Amino acid sequence: MRIAVFGTKGYDRRFFTAANEAHGHDLLFLEPRLDALTSQLARGCGAVCVFVNDVVDGAVLATLAQGGTRLVALRCAGFNNVDLAAAERLGISVVRVPAYSPHAVAEFTVALLLAVDRHIPRAWARVRDNNFALDGLIGRNLHGRTVGVVGTGKIGALVARSLKLGFGCDVLASDIAADPELEAIGIRYVERTTLLREAEIVTLHCPLTPETRHLIDADAIAHARDGLVIVNTSRGALIDTSALIDGLKTRKIGAVALDVYEQEADLFFEDLSSEIVSDDVFQRLLTFPNVLITGHQAFLTEEALQAIAETTLASIADAEAGRPLANRVDSALIAPSR
Ligand code: NAD
Repeated sequence: MRIAVFGTKGYDRRFFTAANEAHGHDLLFLEPRLDALTSQLARGCGAVCVFVNDVVDGAVLATLAQGGTRLVALRCAGFNNVDLAAAERLGISVVRVPAYSPHAVAEFTVALLLAVDRHIPRAWARVRDNNFALDGLIGRNLHGRTVGVVGTGKIGALVARSLKLGFGCDVLASDIAADPELEAIGIRYVERTTLLREAEIVTLHCPLTPETRHLIDADAIAHARDGLVIVNTSRGALIDTSALIDGLKTRKIGAVALDVYEQEADLFFEDLSSEIVSDDVFQRLLTFPNVLITGHQAFLTEEALQAIAETTLASIADAEAGRPLANRVDSALIAPSR
C-alpha cells in the first residue's frame, strides 16, 4: 500500500524504513504536517501516517477520503487530534500505537520531576559557567512526599509504582477504574478533587478528552497545597496555561515540568532558534526559574521508535489484508464523563 508519512523527521525515516523491510509498503515520506493544505499530497495513498500535532479534522478527512485514503495510522498513543465521528462517517479507519513503550514516557516523567525538583538544569548551567555556588539550589527529598497520579493506565501505573516502591512516596491516584495491583502495593485511589487538594506533586497521565481539558485550572490551583509541583507528560491542554502562570506568579505553584504544552502545535518538533516566537504565553513560561520544559520528547527512545514503526506498519498490513484491526480507535475509546 502507498502510505503518506506526514511530518517526517530523520528518526521517523530511519525507523520506518528499517521496519518496512518486513512489509514492503510504498512509503512516501513528507516533511510537512498534515493539515487542510497538505492533505492534497496524500492523493492516491491508501493510508496516511500522522503524529500528535497533525490536523485530522473533518475537512482534512474529507479531502483524504476523496483522494482514496481509507486508513489514518497514528504513530502515537493519543488520538485527541482526530475527529473520530467524521472518520467513521467517511469510512476511514483510524489506528494508533496504544503501547509502544510506556517505560519511555514513565522514565522521562520521573527524570523531569527530579530535574525540576533538584534544580539540575540550573545547576548544570552554573557549573558550565564555573559558578559553583549552591544558593537557590535547595531541593526536597521525594521520599515521604505525597504524589498524585492522575490516570493510572500503562504510563501512570509505571510512574506510580516507581514513586511508591523506588522512592518511598505516598502515592494517591485517580482514574475511572482503580488498578487492584496498584492498590495492593498501597496506592490509594481518591476522587480527583481530593487528589488535587492533598498532593504535593501532581503528575498527569490521563488522555485529553472534553472531560479532562484544563483539569488543572485556576480553581484546582487555588485549592492545591502551597508549593505544588506539577508534571505533565501527557497532553498540554490538560492544564490551563494562563492559570498555571498566575499560580507561578503568586508562588502558589512551587515548580512545573512540562513535556507538552497547550499550543505546542505551533512550536514543537521544529528548530525555531533563528525565529521570533510570537507565543507570549510560552515565552512567559520560559522566564520562570522553577519551570522546566522539553519539546514532547518523552517517547523518544530507540525502543519506542522501533516499536512505533513496527506496530504502525503491521496495522497497515492488517488493513490492507482485510484482517481485524487490533489497534483501531473509535469513539467508544473516549472515556465517559465523570
Ligand atoms: P492509557 O490509555 O494506558 O492510560 C490512560 C489512563 O487514563 C487510563 O487508565 C484511563 O482509564 C485513565 N483516564 C481516562 N479518563 C480519565 C479521567 N477523566 N480521569 C482520570 N483518569 C482517566 O494511556 P497511556 O499509554 O498510559 O498514556 C497516557 C497519556 O500519555 C496518553 O493519553 C498520551 O496523551 C500521553 N503520552 C505522551 C507521550 C509523550 O511523548 N509525552 C507519549 C505517549 C503518551
